[in-house]
Amino acid sequence: MYTAIGYAAQSATAPLAPMTFNRRSPRPDDVAIEILYCGVCHSDIHQARNEWGIAVYPLMPGHEIVGKVTEVGANVSKHKVGDLVGVGCMVDSCRHCEACAADLEQYCLEGPTLTYATPDRIDGSNTMGGYSNSIVVSEHFVVRIPEKLDLAAAAPILCAGITTYSPLKHYGVKAGDKVGVLGMGGLGHMGIKFAKAMGAEVTLFTRSASKAEEARRQGADHVIVSTDAEQMKAAAGHFDFLLDTIPVQHDLNPYLETLRFDGVHILVGLIEPIDPAVHAANLVMKRRVLAGSLIGGIAETQEVLDFCAEHDISCDIEMLDIKNINQAYERMIAGDVKYRFVIDMATLKA
Ligand SMILES: [Zn+2]
Ligand SMILES: [Zn+2]
Repeated sequence: MYTAIGYAAQSATAPLAPMTFNRRSPRPDDVAIEILYCGVCHSDIHQARNEWGIAVYPLMPGHEIVGKVTEVGANVSKHKVGDLVGVGCMVDSCRHCEACAADLEQYCLEGPTLTYATPDRIDGSNTMGGYSNSIVVSEHFVVRIPEKLDLAAAAPILCAGITTYSPLKHYGVKAGDKVGVLGMGGLGHMGIKFAKAMGAEVTLFTRSASKAEEARRQGADHVIVSTDAEQMKAAAGHFDFLLDTIPVQHDLNPYLETLRFDGVHILVGLIEPIDPAVHAANLVMKRRVLAGSLIGGIAETQEVLDFCAEHDISCDIEMLDIKNINQAYERMIAGDVKYRFVIDMATLKA
């Protein structure tokens, strides 16, 4: 075992604060990583405050981890000391079920082991995330960071990036397709970049007209103000795909009407009941599909990192001193970040 430091919440109402704890010594298939950067995801806030009811304390968030390999177990072949690597939302899974066998560990039938607040499959200890100076993870769940990528800006690709890339890939978005992206936060701005790089004609749906210029800077071809009924009506039957990154309940019906027949509306941001209800006619009458998608598998996480290197895509980030993490949470809740905070772990030493 070795001693690690990090920021954790001790209860649902406590702010994050420094904590010293133990990380395990690497098992034969483990990689030990010195964490250099860690992105701050909205899930971190939900979990730290137990808003999903599944938190385990102390809770150390962080699942957009980039760092350098410091030690490897005897059987490790994928990574070596000194390699620049990443860890996303999962650190283990059953590895034998149908989903795991298909490289879709996020849908593991036994449930994947999440990077934080989940019992380790071997010793039962509570996993601790990336708001820390180190982490120890089985090599299968560690990905390679391509040299071309900026390390800090690469961190959010491990959650925000893969979450938006995976469904676009799964549904086969291709050149000429018309893709609508709902919302332009951490997920949405990556969705715009990916859809554009796949050759699609991309439209941002936003509530505020003021975001139009910024959306175009991100690569969107068009902007629809979703609160403008006329603009929504004019888009009826237009889109092949909608990538819905809105994390709060919203009426899907006006969006579904903008899909052509066979169009697919993909939810990636909402983990709550759909309210108001979807009118089935909006699906039935045009054979439309309402779908959901969760992050992506490990092989696909490597694929999205390589895709980002190839297409010069990175996340727009604001660097964060870890001592300001609680204020950063408040700013995220207020929508006041473009588009992802990334903790510079060098500030943890100070
Ligand atoms: Zn996340
Ligand atoms: Zn499995």
